[in-house]
Amino acid sequence: MTTPPVCNYEGSDYQTSFWEKGGREYEDRTEAIALKRLLPKSGRLLLELGAGAGRNTPRYLGFDRIVLLDYSRTQLEQAQQRLGKSDKYIYVAADVYRLPFVPGLFDAATMIRTLHHMADAPKALGQVKNVLDAGGVFILEFANKLNLKAIVRYLLGRQKWSPFTLKPVEFVKLNFDFHPKAVRNWLNDLGFTIEKTLTLSHFRMGFLKRIVPTSILVFFDSLFQWTGAWWQFTPSVFVRAKAKGGRRKDELPANPSLFFKCPDCSHSPLIDKKDYLECSNCHKTWGVRDGIFDFREPVIN
Ligand SMILES: [Zn+2]
Repeated sequence: MTTPPVCNYEGSDYQTSFWEKGGREYEDRTEAIALKRLLPKSGRLLLELGAGAGRNTPRYLGFDRIVLLDYSRTQLEQAQQRLGKSDKYIYVAADVYRLPFVPGLFDAATMIRTLHHMADAPKALGQVKNVLDAGGVFILEFANKLNLKAIVRYLLGRQKWSPFTLKPVEFVKLNFDFHPKAVRNWLNDLGFTIEKTLTLSHFRMGFLKRIVPTSILVFFDSLFQWTGAWWQFTPSVFVRAKAKGGRRKDELPANPSLFFKCPDCSHSPLIDKKDYLECSNCHKTWGVRDGIFDFREPVIN
């Protein structure tokens, strides 16, 4: 099966270099505010796509259980160190284009700063729709190509690509910016209803971040976030979308091994063999090591 290329953070010190030492306190705090405004207060099971080292995970504690998904195992190991091994967290290394979950499993999903690594964004969003229950909530953040800086640069002739077209722009390999209308179209076509849109990072400018105290920038950004309902010209946009249809309210299985399907042949349930999960249909086995389910490649027996 061929799937689009994946941006792999294996072995990356992204959490430290970008978030902790990279002067991103403003972005981190404005994201916390947006998530609070968009997330359901509580729920049973949330899927965090592109969880990385778990920076946002403590913001989802209203949910009974949280599945942290990332392509990079080392990012998940960092998340384990930060959050601890508990029944509340389920760590899954998997490819977003081949999600290993039974359909309709989750009542919520988040994808923050992750879509911008997707070469085939609609395909990834379709996978999310499949694993969300009807009525489930999806919080999506995307990088916006129609941002003020890009518009000004384009109009001054200092940038070749147009921010006004719907096509995603790949400005660095496997880093994409999207047009808000394109994202809305994809979500609508997949059967989502968009309920809220917030714009973030109105003041993502080096000189402002240096001279204005972060708390003041965060305060004004939090006010301006609501203007996302009318226009979106900031580099970062948050959308709250709901999967159409009524909720099923099935009981969740207590054993997380029953959450999964085979990412290769879609068969479920998989047989729990402690160190691995086995597909009784295609006979592939998927590793479970140190509390991390690994669905990237089958284990060779
Ligand atoms: Zn299989």
